[in-house]
Amino acid sequence: MTTSLRIGQGYDVHAFTSGDHVMLGGERVPHSHGVLAHSDGDVLLHAICDALLGAAGLGDIGMHFPDSDPRWRGTDSRTFLRHVRLLLQDRGYRVVNVDATVIAERPRLGRYRDAMRVNIGSDLGLDAARVNVKATTTEGLGYIGRAEGLACQAIVLIEQTTGIQAP
Ligand code: MG
Repeated sequence: MTTSLRIGQGYDVHAFTSGDHVMLGGERVPHSHGVLAHSDGDVLLHAICDALLGAAGLGDIGMHFPDSDPRWRGTDSRTFLRHVRLLLQDRGYRVVNVDATVIAERPRLGRYRDAMRVNIGSDLGLDAARVNVKATTTEGLGYIGRAEGLACQAIVLIEQTTGIQAP
């Protein structure tokens, strides 16, 4: 029996457009704008999906859920996260922990953070204590500072405990 650890990182950006909320970590966060997206535009979940796919060597979110596919229009991004979990499970991978940073001037996320951790943990079969969500601004600099959009970076560790060597 061997345990192999793999690490992955993900990054996502969405532009703001007209609207009254953004979806972040599966939570509906009231905001003066929405995000331009094919799906629900949840940058936090998209970055985590990409980190997980990267850790498992399975490409990226665009390969699995192309925005040219009408099936994914307006999709709840938790569907993506749960699908990615299954892809990893099929290959014997278990998520060890997730750490993510949402980068935005606004909205403020503090009061939603715990609910986001619970959502992500639930979709990944992971205790919420293994999911960390951080938030930062860019101190007014750049497109995020000008409140033209928001971004997220995520990093994950996954492990595979089998008698078979990881590909
Ligand atoms: Mg995205």
